[in-house]
Amino acid sequence: MDAYNAWFQCFGGCAGHYPLTEVIYTCPTCGGLLEVAHDMAVLKREPGAYWRGLFDKRYMRTEWPYGSSVWGKKELVCPVVHDDNVVSMYEGGSNLFWAEKLGREIGVDDLWVKQCGNSHTGSFKDLGMTVLVSMVKQMVFEGVRIPAVACASTGDTSAALAAYCAAAGVQAVVFLPRDKISTAQLLQPLANGALVLSLETDFDGCMKLVQEICHRENIYLANSINSLRVEGQKTISIELVQQFDWKVPDWVVIPGGNLGNVSALGKGFLEMQALGIIDRLPRIAVAQAHSANPLYRSFEKNFDSFEPIRARSTLASAIQIGNPVSGEKAIHTLKTFGGVVAQASEQELADAVARADRTGLFACPHTGVAFAALFKLIDEGTIQKSERVIVISTAHGLKFSEFKLGYHRDELQDWRVNPHYRNEPVVLPPKADAVKRAILDRVEANEKLTG
Ligand SMILES: *Cc1c(COP(=O)(O)O)cnc(C)c1O
Ligand SMILES: [Zn+2]
Repeated sequence: MDAYNAWFQCFGGCAGHYPLTEVIYTCPTCGGLLEVAHDMAVLKREPGAYWRGLFDKRYMRTEWPYGSSVWGKKELVCPVVHDDNVVSMYEGGSNLFWAEKLGREIGVDDLWVKQCGNSHTGSFKDLGMTVLVSMVKQMVFEGVRIPAVACASTGDTSAALAAYCAAAGVQAVVFLPRDKISTAQLLQPLANGALVLSLETDFDGCMKLVQEICHRENIYLANSINSLRVEGQKTISIELVQQFDWKVPDWVVIPGGNLGNVSALGKGFLEMQALGIIDRLPRIAVAQAHSANPLYRSFEKNFDSFEPIRARSTLASAIQIGNPVSGEKAIHTLKTFGGVVAQASEQELADAVARADRTGLFACPHTGVAFAALFKLIDEGTIQKSERVIVISTAHGLKFSEFKLGYHRDELQDWRVNPHYRNEPVVLPPKADAVKRAILDRVEANEKLTG
């Protein structure tokens, strides 16, 4: 794999290449975002059919590390890591769920949910973190001194960082906004031995602090300003077309907070197109919570400007971000992909989760934002009912049990949620008659509903 190469370069177009083993996050010329660029000329020596075949041959097999769906695309993701330095927990290969029943309810036959939360730490963050922590291991192997790796997080990035660092034997430091993440998300980095800093601020405050510390103390920064993570996350787009035998869907709907994931999705599609792996692009819809919607506001002004806001509290806590790091990349992606942005209120996202759950899913609140956005985009005719639509589910619902239980107990008054799809336990004496009555009541109610 020696011929394949990749490096950091300025996303805004300044000259200069920087090796992936250099500790660098922003362009030294303009201070803007970096991106990982691949030596496309070498990759293009092989036709698209070669790459499709290679990726299929490796997909979910056992040859280390290529069974991981991130490392199975290694030439296109991060060719500079030795296989021995890869830190992998068998990423990707997540279910592409045919949402037959939910789709039928909204008139869309071809609705699919990419279950990125069915993964080692329960969110898509694993896809990027395997690349970043593998690069750290490679750098240490090459003699770079990295005393610790740190991130600010709305909960899932820190869980992923802690797990991969624990496996690699590297100290993780996580900056969390106090009382703004779920119990499971707090527990995960604790269990994996991370240094957990619980700070009296919001995510944007944590982000500012971690950047300052990393800059001064030579600690490696693991937030998505570090564009290595984007390389792993872009395999979402590769894997989902792979799961359709390399056919491109019409729409991808994705929840957005810091906006690294939508940028990754777009990069994956564009590189596949450049290599002849696919021959067209999908359209992309980003879904934001009404309480944290800077991209939606920018979309309403045709992306003429992008202004950070102060994010308000939302049940979709992982996307409660007012000053997204990858705003500029996301806007570039949306312009290229005929993109749109839709937003969801707390009521809409909570009901969307419960409605999806009734059809067999177990959605997290962020996926609920995406579903609620989808319902609106269908209603207004932006997405046609005949189109093939994929919703990116970003985390496992089990990480958000407080939210889900709060909904069914009707305890989400702080967010003014009135649960339309509530399902409560029926408390009964242990008597056969009472149990029989309860079952018959439910069956009757169902029959009334279906007519
Ligand atoms: C990180 C995260 C997001 C947002 O992804 P960005 O890349 O920050 O836009 C959405 N949902 C969940 C569950 C997340 O953990
Ligand atoms: Zn620059």
